[in-house]
Amino acid sequence: MKTDLHLHTTFSDGSYTPSQAVDMAVESGLDGIAITDHDSIEGIEAAVKRGKLYNDFYIIPGIEFGCIYLDEEVHLLGYCFDYYSKDMLSLTKRLKDARVTRGEKIIKKLNNLGIKITVDDVIKHARKDYIGRPHIGRALIDKGYVNSMDEAFEKYLNRGKPAYVERYKLRIEEVIELIHSENGLVSLAHPGLLNQKEIISHCIKAGIDGIEVIHPKHSNKNVLDFIKVTEKFNLIATGGSDWHGNFKDGDCLLGKYYVNLNNIPEMKRRV
Ligand code: AMP
Ligand code: ZN
Ligand code: FE
Ligand code: FE
Repeated sequence: MKTDLHLHTTFSDGSYTPSQAVDMAVESGLDGIAITDHDSIEGIEAAVKRGKLYNDFYIIPGIEFGCIYLDEEVHLLGYCFDYYSKDMLSLTKRLKDARVTRGEKIIKKLNNLGIKITVDDVIKHARKDYIGRPHIGRALIDKGYVNSMDEAFEKYLNRGKPAYVERYKLRIEEVIELIHSENGLVSLAHPGLLNQKEIISHCIKAGIDGIEVIHPKHSNKNVLDFIKVTEKFNLIATGGSDWHGNFKDGDCLLGKYYVNLNNIPEMKRRV
């Protein structure tokens, strides 16, 4: 039951639609995927519909939230919640509205730096209700202001750079409480990327259910260390590709990073 538990679609900053993601996942030899868009659950339904075209291919409802703790960005993945839940939908709407306002602020900062891009230039690369920095990066590339996405982030969009604007972020406890109230599971995303490792123990104390062990940016040592943590604290070990399609990845990560759902009975039961 090869399952990629972390991927993004056009409903956040991925470059393929949920249906395309399902087709490509099947093609790559996976047996199931979780759709984990940033701040959005609206791509899940289309993926579920598409998945029904294939025999035994399963779609797991998911989401990735960006929280802030110790002044560091902490990503939490939610799984197996009710994706028609009113609470989830109203929270994600609030987050997306805040993203649009923040996107407009970033564009204004760029304008003040003499860069002529408009909201329309950015929305060409995004859904109207979701703006992420990669969409702004795309517009900067299009207009010839930078040559690559990395350059866009390095020059303008990263924290500390002249067009940076903080995004509205939830607290770790809020996310865990919400996902648990929807009978879902919470996993700490790509802990290997955290600068302050004490954040991991904070999340465990706060009640996460799992840790993302498999991730393309994790070293072999990361994987072994995090497996030990899951064993010590009786947590589930999740994993996936964090695939965004062309926006971010050089080579295709899909089909290369996955977990066996048989090893996660708590999740398999819900699926
Ligand atoms: P935002 O959610 O709008 O704050 O933007 C963060 C997103 O940008 C995340 O999905 C990151 O994966 C992505 N990102 C961060 N740095 C880069 C980069 N250098 N190139 C491409 N994408 C990036
Ligand atoms: Zn992303
Ligand atoms: Fe993330
Ligand atoms: Fe991600």
